[in-house]
Amino acid sequence: MKKAPVVLFFALALVVDTDCVPKQSPKMVQVEAAATALGLSQVESGAFLARVRQGTGRFFELLDAAMADRTTDAKLLARVDKSKSLPRDYEPSDLVQLDGKSLSVSRPGHRLRKPAFEALVVMSAAAKADGLSLTISSAYRSYSYQESLFTRNVAEMGEKEASRVSARPGSSQHQLGTAIDFGSITDAFALTPASKWLVANARRFGFSLSYPKGMESVTGYVWESWHYRYIGKAAASLQAEYFDGVQHYLILFLDAYRLAQPNR
Ligand SMILES: [Zn+2]
Repeated sequence: MKKAPVVLFFALALVVDTDCVPKQSPKMVQVEAAATALGLSQVESGAFLARVRQGTGRFFELLDAAMADRTTDAKLLARVDKSKSLPRDYEPSDLVQLDGKSLSVSRPGHRLRKPAFEALVVMSAAAKADGLSLTISSAYRSYSYQESLFTRNVAEMGEKEASRVSARPGSSQHQLGTAIDFGSITDAFALTPASKWLVANARRFGFSLSYPKGMESVTGYVWESWHYRYIGKAAASLQAEYFDGVQHYLILFLDAYRLAQPNR
């Protein structure tokens, strides 16, 4: 009989404790499962999840919008890198010629997919209003064009170096028709006002830097200050606010988040 109050205390503590722990929402469980796909350290993963929990409203607003964009346009946020290639015959069906569209182009003949083209027109006008010109030096590249480019690089610098600075055919974002190289396509571009403007503003128009500085071990490519990919406004904001501006993490996360959906 003397033990009764102790037992009661533990029973109460159990009830109180259970009531105090907020139930994980199914979406948060999905987020946790997807976070593991990023290959982050425990500390980095913990920091990411803490940031998400600090503002779940904003996070899920952007995530839901990005997932909706991804459903509407299967290639908009598709993973294309050294581990995941596009087929030889993949060519977007909505390529638009950039000539005669009030854009600054390095040569005639550049093409982009319609959604990327439309966003580029708006972004270029905004840059122009700020006194800057964004010159498009490379846009859509077919599988065979990429094949000749990579072969040329291998001949010039050897296979190892060529694969650090250029993509093998099929694994170039340029085949998607949503990637753009601006300006000189050299490291000197990073020092130009146009590059600084893009760093500060590209995300507002749905563009993101694909290969950031110091991330070669993650992206597989050296820093390319000139290479931007159109991913849509929601995804670009999500990347900037929750993925430290690393597009590769965002793309991996969205793939894993979809796979973690129950009853998909
Ligand atoms: Zn590029």
